[in-house]
Amino acid sequence: MQYEIIKEELKNSINVEDYEKFIAPLKFLTSKSKSNEVIFEAQNPFLAAHAQRNFAEIIANVFEKVTKTRPIVQIVAKRGAIGGVSNAQTQKEKIDEKPKSHELHGGFTFEKFVVAKSNELAVTIAKVAARAIIEEKPAPYNPVLFFGGVGLGKTHLMVAVGNAAREKKVVVTYRRCEDMMNEFKRSIKEETLDRFRNQYRNCDLLLIDDIQFLSGKEGFQEEFFNTFEALAQKNKQIVLTCDQVPKMIAGLTERLKSRFMGGQIAEILPPELDTKINIIKLKLKDRQISMEDDVIRYIATKLDSNVREIESVLNQFVINMTIGNKNTIEIARDILKNYLKEKRENITIDEIVGVVARETNCKISEIRSKGRTAPIAKARKMVIFLARKLTKNSMPHIAEYFGMKDHSAASHAYKAAENLYETEADFKAKIEFLIGRITENHENQLS
Ligand code: ADP
Ligand code: MG
Repeated sequence: MQYEIIKEELKNSINVEDYEKFIAPLKFLTSKSKSNEVIFEAQNPFLAAHAQRNFAEIIANVFEKVTKTRPIVQIVAKRGAIGGVSNAQTQKEKIDEKPKSHELHGGFTFEKFVVAKSNELAVTIAKVAARAIIEEKPAPYNPVLFFGGVGLGKTHLMVAVGNAAREKKVVVTYRRCEDMMNEFKRSIKEETLDRFRNQYRNCDLLLIDDIQFLSGKEGFQEEFFNTFEALAQKNKQIVLTCDQVPKMIAGLTERLKSRFMGGQIAEILPPELDTKINIIKLKLKDRQISMEDDVIRYIATKLDSNVREIESVLNQFVINMTIGNKNTIEIARDILKNYLKEKRENITIDEIVGVVARETNCKISEIRSKGRTAPIAKARKMVIFLARKLTKNSMPHIAEYFGMKDHSAASHAYKAAENLYETEADFKAKIEFLIGRITENHENQLS
């Protein structure tokens, strides 16, 4: 049978472990010749989503090779599986029905947002704004603006205002700033500026995500300013998010800066440990999964503050649990080890030197040369220690990088640093801080 041939081919195309975990348990449901679709069933929605993301393309390739026609591969969850969708068809519809970029994410509500010291002010302001809309009162402050680092909940909170406001059937316009900009450009080209303006200036609530994208876009800033004025004059609420405090955005006109700074601004800070734990508990509840408290604490301690990352680790955890492994701290350890390894893959010594130079106020050239003042020697020791920890470079290679004659000097510096790391709390803290910075810097380069 052809399907047997396909299975054999798949075995050869995917590594054994993944094949056993994700492909072998898939049940072949149907193939529809008309729509060119092939549907598989996985044990639960998480496995289905994982397989869809990682293996649908490969499966399609193999089908194409064997049958000479390329199908669309859909992997759906088993009927009645946890996480909820009741049958394969609805699940498939869900996949087709990805929210469009201008739709509000239905799960981003106030109920699903953990309130803590790090975001308290932002939540209060968001709720006051939402209440005014529901009670059909003028916007209490304009704009409401949330700023802060990646994955801290800015979009979630902004969209929560939108979801709350919907109770009243008000007109909500939500866009990523970048999308709004592209629409603006298109509307000029296609001479549909009126329609564009109607959409943005005749709504009751305007939500614009990541306004740092305004930077340097002069023509669009003018349009944005006029949109802002039109809505503010009518006392309609505007909610914005930004990755930094708006007055620091380079290439932004003074009048926009002053408008942005003139409303209610709230910074969202990284969550503290207890908050991370509470967020994890809420996300687990949502996924109908239980986890021991010490495992939750372990994950919260190991990961830093980006909640999006915490969620992706939880998803991996759920996958691992549902394929038969036991729910133990061991799984968490494995996942985190891999996760952190992947995150740090391909960090270079140059990147490490760059970050260490910046954080210690030394020059890159000084760290790389033989400068011997105490601060420089210490910075170099840190680089060598970090290079061993975060990269695959061998000692001889590290020695060569620093122009050392042989690797014993590098080994000596490494041992000295290791000793400091174990005995001096300050040094250890500095190294941990640097690891955070280097990883962050590395990720930014990748994205
Ligand atoms: P940002 O826009 O700041 O980059 P998001 O709003 O997209 O971050 O949040 C990233 C993910 O983290 C989302 O899935 C969101 O639900 C979750 N999240 C962030 N903060 C919280 C919180 N306090 N409570 C619950 N979920 C949170
Ligand atoms: Mg966001």
